[in-house]
Amino acid sequence: MRPRERSREFGAESMRLTYGALSMNRPKRLLVANVAWAHETAVRNPAFFRNLVRGQNPHVLWIGCSDSRVPAETITHCEPGDLFVHRNIANLFQAGDDNSASVLEYAVKVLKVGHVIVCGHYGCGGVRAALLPPEPGLPHVNRRIAPLCALAKAHHEELDGQANERQRIDRLAELNVLEQVRGLRAHPIVRDADPAPLVHGWIFALEDGRIKVLTSGYEADDAMTCTTAAHSAA
Ligand SMILES: [Zn+2]
Repeated sequence: MRPRERSREFGAESMRLTYGALSMNRPKRLLVANVAWAHETAVRNPAFFRNLVRGQNPHVLWIGCSDSRVPAETITHCEPGDLFVHRNIANLFQAGDDNSASVLEYAVKVLKVGHVIVCGHYGCGGVRAALLPPEPGLPHVNRRIAPLCALAKAHHEELDGQANERQRIDRLAELNVLEQVRGLRAHPIVRDADPAPLVHGWIFALEDGRIKVLTSGYEADDAMTCTTAAHSAA
C-alpha cells in the first residue's frame, strides 16, 4: 500500500467509522481527528514537523473575526506557519487594547511581516449587534463593539439608505474593515516601521466562500477583486 493510500485509510474513512461506532464526546472527537491529521501530515511531508520546530517566519498578520465560519488558514489554503493570526468579534483593532496591539507589535517588530490583512465577513453577528440595542447579558461584548456602534452612527445616513437589514449589516461590515485599515495604517507601529507593512482590507462572503478586496495596500490595485488579482498575476 502506498503511503498516500494508507494515509487516506487512516484518516477520513476511519474517522467516519469511529464516529459511527462510538458516541465520543466532542473534545474526544477533536483529539482523534488531531491524531489523524498529524499522521496524514507526516506521511504527506516527512519534514513538516521538523520545519515547524525550527521556528516561524510568517509573512502575513491576519486580523479576522472569531466567527467559526471564517477560519483564516482554511479559506486561504494556508498551512501552519503561513499566517500570524489575531481574531476577535468583528475583526476590530483597538490601539488601546494590549491584546490586539501586542499582536501587531510582535508581528511587525519581531516577525517583520510584510502584510497586515484585515478580513471581515458579510453576515457578521458582531456587526449586526452594533446596529441593535445593547444586549444586557453581554457587557463585555457591548464594550468591545462600542467603536463599531460609533462607526454605525457616523455613517447612519448611508446605512439608513440601504434596502434592508441584511444590506445595512453588510455595508457596515465593509465600513468596519476600512476603518480598521485606516487605524492600522496610522498606528505608529505600522507607520514608523521600515519598511512599513502594507495594510489590506478584505471581506469574505459566506455564500460562495470568495474574498473581495476592499483596499489592497497596493494603490493601483484598490477596489480590485481576488478574481481579477488572480488573472493579472497569471
Ligand atoms: Zn463576524
